[in-house]
Amino acid sequence: MQVSLDDYSWGAAVATDLVNTAPEVQVTRGEQLPDGAALAAFLAEHDVHPDALADRPATAADVAAVHRLRADLRTLIESPDPADAAARAGRLSAAAGGGPFLQMAPGGRWHWHVCSRGGGAAEELALLTATALQGVLRTLGHDRFRQCAAPDCTGVFVDTSRAGRRRYCVPEVCGNRINVANHRARRRAAPPDQRA
Ligand SMILES: [Zn+2]
Repeated sequence: MQVSLDDYSWGAAVATDLVNTAPEVQVTRGEQLPDGAALAAFLAEHDVHPDALADRPATAADVAAVHRLRADLRTLIESPDPADAAARAGRLSAAAGGGPFLQMAPGGRWHWHVCSRGGGAAEELALLTATALQGVLRTLGHDRFRQCAAPDCTGVFVDTSRAGRRRYCVPEVCGNRINVANHRARRRAAPPDQRA
């Protein structure tokens, strides 16, 4: 698998969504990657097509390796020290791939990429996510690695938005949870005749 050094948004989104599949985040729904079928669905949903799974289904060993990567990515995103976060990401990407390589794309535009070393699906996923997280650190800064602002959520995320104002790991879920809670609090605080 090739991973472009020009595009960190995709890999950062995959890292965020992967970390938030864990049972410690999904306290009510539980483990979101329990088996090979769930892992295959996660990869397809994120348009990740590991070479290792080109002609075989994901196995329990792939799932176990992805769970280990998921824990490493969480530690990396939660690290309070930018140099430590960069070192952790560098170790993950260096173990999984090599490069950079310069290639001329159709149309004559140069682009940098790194290549996986033929490890398993988890290594390819490590290369994609860890390379992207280094891109975010370098381009957007360490404060883009954040904890979800919803008080009852243990999710983390990487904000690659232009404005950098993202607050929730899953905005449409955790953001709504806050809005509903605020709405209820306002209702309770307002006199009965003003309740909407
Ligand atoms: Zn959240």
